[in-house]
Amino acid sequence: MPERLYKPICKDLIEHEKKCHFCAKNMTSLKAYKLKHKETGEIVCAGPSCTEKNIDQGIKLSAIPDLTKYTQPLGGNGGGGGGGNSEKPIIRAEEDKRKAIEYLELREKKFEKYHSVSYSVLKNYYNKSQNEELNES
Ligand SMILES: [Zn+2]
Repeated sequence: MPERLYKPICKDLIEHEKKCHFCAKNMTSLKAYKLKHKETGEIVCAGPSCTEKNIDQGIKLSAIPDLTKYTQPLGGNGGGGGGGNSEKPIIRAEEDKRKAIEYLELREKKFEKYHSVSYSVLKNYYNKSQNEELNES
């Protein structure tokens, strides 16, 4: 059993469509196995079937570290977990909260003012009507 020339490094996402190093097929899934040449140290990208043919027999593809597992969810939800992207929504939420509190405080003050005005008016009217009643009897 001849020794094969490459050893696997990892399965990783590739930035754009690349051709497989061995069969020149486009890797349209944007996932590729990265392999290192044992003698030259050259790193090449390959599809799964070519990877299997060029790494030592007995190494299973499933045993190669799969970095796409960690990069996929981030790309899927629009990078919500990223550092720079998550800042804006938090600031916006804080601003909305502040505005909501300001609005409620303003409304409460207006209501208080209105309430006290109407209360004194009613109280005066009430007092006046009671006095009139008293005077009449
Ligand atoms: Zn290939």
